[in-house]
Amino acid sequence: MAVIGHYIGGKQVNTAGRTASVFNPATGAQSGEVLLASAATVGEAVAAAKAAFPAWADTPTLTRARIMFKFKNLLDRDIDKLAEAITLEHGKTFEDAKGEVTRGIEVVEFACGIPHLLRGDFTEQVARGVDVFSARHPLGVVAGITPFNFPVMVPMWMFPVALACGNSFVLKPSEKDPTPSLMLAELLAEAGLPKGVFNVVQGDKEAVDTLLTHPDVAAVSFVGSTAIGEYVYKTACAHGKRAQALCGAKNHLVVMPDADLDKTVDALMGAGYGSAGERCMAVSVAVAVGGVGDALMEKLVPKVQALKVGPGMDADSEMGPLVTREHLAKVRGYVDDGVAAGAKLVVDGRDLKLQGYEDGYFLGGCLFDDVTTDMKIYKEEIFGPVLSVVRVPAYEDALRLVNDHEYGNGAAIFTRDGDAARAFDRDAKAGMIGINVPIPVPVAFHSFGGWKRSVFGDRNVYGMEGVGFYTKMKTTTARWPTGIRAGAQFVMPTTGS
Ligand code: NAD
Repeated sequence: MAVIGHYIGGKQVNTAGRTASVFNPATGAQSGEVLLASAATVGEAVAAAKAAFPAWADTPTLTRARIMFKFKNLLDRDIDKLAEAITLEHGKTFEDAKGEVTRGIEVVEFACGIPHLLRGDFTEQVARGVDVFSARHPLGVVAGITPFNFPVMVPMWMFPVALACGNSFVLKPSEKDPTPSLMLAELLAEAGLPKGVFNVVQGDKEAVDTLLTHPDVAAVSFVGSTAIGEYVYKTACAHGKRAQALCGAKNHLVVMPDADLDKTVDALMGAGYGSAGERCMAVSVAVAVGGVGDALMEKLVPKVQALKVGPGMDADSEMGPLVTREHLAKVRGYVDDGVAAGAKLVVDGRDLKLQGYEDGYFLGGCLFDDVTTDMKIYKEEIFGPVLSVVRVPAYEDALRLVNDHEYGNGAAIFTRDGDAARAFDRDAKAGMIGINVPIPVPVAFHSFGGWKRSVFGDRNVYGMEGVGFYTKMKTTTARWPTGIRAGAQFVMPTTGS
């Protein structure tokens, strides 16, 4: 049985204490035992990061960038190994896992440009003989707390930018799929990152609470559910830290009557059922506008019925299992609830049984029609392969649905009408908009973040937002001795004189 421990000060550390079981979701068999860090172990990781910080912050940006280049090459080399590790603990298909690693690599590629990104501002002669310049400085020890659904990509939304900016990092990954975090730590070490600059503590609430309250942690990035994210954000802020929390979602895809229905249905299949719906940018509500519902269902239903569900390592699988037995039960519970509330369950995936994988956490694709806004399956994030279709008479009704929902991560519109698309882009209250794009996750040189209760804090992750989050500004006003005026000045200095 694999023991999955911590990575502190440049080496794996297996401190005795509480543990949790890790499972292969396709078979239901236990694959490992993950250590759950105590406050003392988290303290050791923070101390290692604190000790490593001054030398790393002093390292020229070009040198830091070169380590990121090497790290990127190693990620390319090991992409299959990383993807397999993801599939074996998360359950998503191997190809989907490779896509996840690729999206993480793109953030590393962005971070390779750090010498340019950290170039400061300079204004000559703001007064006679006086110059002003601004530069961004790293914060110190920063922490990342990440969810189960992207065990490589989401940590890599954070640490490549944080490290390139000169911070040291403590990652607290999800305890459900912890192995890839250690592989990332080993690759960073192989790329030449000094010991202690990147650390991993496995764990649960105890580890998180220690990071949130530790006086030597300067900033916390969190990605996960809204309930935990709100707690993390408030606790971190109350302890004087910079914080950002990216949280839950209920993403709508608006289908206009003029949409290309074949392409829309393909988009709904990938965005609704890819990764078994366990994506914060998954589409979980399709809004059929102005009578397009019947034609949409005619094309959608057979595709959902034909969805190939199987183990993630099987090349034929389009959708793998859910992450844990508990999560499977929770998602099934939502489907039961939808039926009880009167929604029409057009495709029922609850009785799916896979020969040879009877103990796996599989659920077939589920499709509801005639869902209404008062239903729990409409209001709450299900995070499973369950797509709800809501029918509305007009575009304005669809927009109202998007805007009245408590979450505002992503929203998409499928249409051939440029006016409708432009209006939706301007008026939809969501942080990321797709126009004929179902999962509009921004590329690494833009940045990712939702609105409403999909986010707490005022900075997105990665891109220039990430650089801003992981640095603080210093602005210097300089005059050289030849320019110093005689005598003390008691009047507020002004420019131009
Ligand atoms: P989660 O909130 O259960 O866990 C996230 C992290 O918080 C994990 O590291 C976990 O160990 C820790 N945690 C869990 N309970 C805690 C507690 N009581 N106190 C302190 N820490 C705790 O989320 P999850 O189930 O791992 O991930 C799924 C959720 O993440 C979904 O809601 C999804 O929408 C969201 N998500 C959001 C984004 C985004 O960018 N908005 C991206 C990916 C996932």
